[in-house]
Amino acid sequence: MSVKSGLPNDFDPSTYDAIVVGAGYAGAVCARMLAEGCSFRVAVLERRDHIAGNAYDYEDEAGVLVHKYGPHIYHTFDDRVHEFLCRFTEFTDYQHKVLANIHGTLMPVPFNHQSLKLAFGDEKGERLYRKLVATFGENKKVPILELREQNDPELSEVADYVYENVFLHYTMKQWGKTPDQIDPAVMGRVPVFVGDDDRYFPQAPHQGMPAKSYTALFERMLDHDLIEVYTNVDARDLLHVEDFSINVCGAPYGGEVIYTGPLDELFGLDLGALPYRTLDMQFETLDQDQFQPVGTVNYTVSEDFTRITEFKNMTGQVLPGKTTIMREYSKPYEPNSGQTPYYVINEPQNIELYEKYRQRVSGIVNFHVVGRLAEYRYYDMDGVVASALELSDKIISQR
Ligand code: FAD
Ligand code: UDP
Repeated sequence: MSVKSGLPNDFDPSTYDAIVVGAGYAGAVCARMLAEGCSFRVAVLERRDHIAGNAYDYEDEAGVLVHKYGPHIYHTFDDRVHEFLCRFTEFTDYQHKVLANIHGTLMPVPFNHQSLKLAFGDEKGERLYRKLVATFGENKKVPILELREQNDPELSEVADYVYENVFLHYTMKQWGKTPDQIDPAVMGRVPVFVGDDDRYFPQAPHQGMPAKSYTALFERMLDHDLIEVYTNVDARDLLHVEDFSINVCGAPYGGEVIYTGPLDELFGLDLGALPYRTLDMQFETLDQDQFQPVGTVNYTVSEDFTRITEFKNMTGQVLPGKTTIMREYSKPYEPNSGQTPYYVINEPQNIELYEKYRQRVSGIVNFHVVGRLAEYRYYDMDGVVASALELSDKIISQR
């Protein structure tokens, strides 16, 4: 893989058929697809000192493989995404499991058959479970907001328990709002599961962790004769958006520009900043083999942090006597503060603002926005890969 830190003095954009901004999933997938699909010479510009975007992982001082920007667990229902990624890594068969710490008892999340019995006792839990099955069917996902709409007193009891003990406080910590004040799709990510599957992503046919690391996956994806990666380069210093064209290094650029950063930043936030939530991630290495029984424990009724992740439990790394854990503290993102915009806030006024920025680039036929930041969407990794494959298909088909 060709990676250079900084741009060479003689960097000439016109020698590239495409400039890709960002070396996360969105950028790396497009770079690879365009190099392979239409023999484009591609320059990838990345402002961090590493590739892989928020999926970046590395070995910390204790030798533990950790995820710098939060725990990343791969899962998808999309066969094309899976086949594409499998070209660059093997996946382990790790199945992510999450427990909620509810007043000291660890219960599976999504809340399921077993959680019901832990919360209500075996007999009552079983009775409530049968009622859920009779109402929704077995192995069904029921969003908490839908469960709360049921009139039956026993189902209301379940709904109230789950709302109060799983969603309310965690959501207040994560978003600063109650579950009914935010986009219902966010709660829908973690439905109640009417069944015994105790995986965080029940029924997802493809799930696991990259056998070596996410960073290694990206190294392979970007390893192509026609791709050159430049880290420590902020594309805002090079790109200038005109009404119907884009300038790169001061001259009109005729190749394709794929932009995967925040769209408001490209315009100096001149219409206002797009709101996000950011996270303080506190890593701690402990002199013990294992800290907790699963990859992630959610603190749904106590503590200031939302969850603790123990990386070795997810990666399967064997390293006796040491383990690294990470606590996540959520807070509002402040633009131009050096913080990372992690979570989009999907509210109508924010989408309206985003659309205004989007409108300003819509007339530039060779400028494309893709990814979690640039599309201002709460995408998982697979959703970003799918979106980048779709954009690449479109560009390739037009050549
Ligand atoms: P990013 O990964 O953010 O990449 C964009 C890149 O563009 C960055 O490297 C950035 O530095 C660069 N960039 C931006 N502006 C510029 C510029 N001006 N010049 C140069 N470079 C620039 N997904 C899952 O599927 N499973 C999970 O378990 C999971 N866990 C997550 C946990 C957390 C805490 C978070 C925040 C996200 C998680 N995700 C998970 C989502 C996943 O991180 C994203 O879907 C994916 O990484 C987005 O890829 P991207 O390329 O769109 O954006
Ligand atoms: N959530 C919750 N309690 C939990 C797990 C999730 O309240 O134990 C809510 C919370 O609002 C969270 C959302 O469901 O932001 C989505 O959870 P997910 O784990 O998918 O979030 P991510 O991994 O993207 O941070």
